[in-house]
Amino acid sequence: MDLKDLYRDVIVDHNRNPRNFRPMPDADRHADGFNPLCGDRLTLYVKLDGDRISDVSFQGDGCAISVASASLLTESVRGRTVPEAEALFSTMHRVLTREGEDADPAVLGKLAALSGVREFPARVKCASLCWHTLEAALHSEAAPVSTE
Ligand code: ZN
Repeated sequence: MDLKDLYRDVIVDHNRNPRNFRPMPDADRHADGFNPLCGDRLTLYVKLDGDRISDVSFQGDGCAISVASASLLTESVRGRTVPEAEALFSTMHRVLTREGEDADPAVLGKLAALSGVREFPARVKCASLCWHTLEAALHSEAAPVSTE
């Protein structure tokens, strides 16, 4: 099995059986994302413990790439701090848009499965929608009040 088959299997698996696909009534942050080019829609929910993402989930409806990408996102950012999640977002953005940009697999983990999407420019927005939505969710409220 070559790498492309492995990547395709990861995407098929996460599309058929998306992880963390549920509403989160007690979310601290949430945002809606829409990709009009494809019709992908999703809502992303985030629960924060200080600046750590203690839980993340999503709901929505879209193509296989958009659902798999959101599913992989939830697995990848849970337990990370907000700055770590933002660093991962910028790494993903480079991997999805720049030819020959291969991030360290140790950093990307299963997210590397989405790197093949850049060969299909029309689908890049499908893969990046959930990341832009996460970014919007994390900034959906003013910074917490600090007593320091
Ligand atoms: Zn799509």
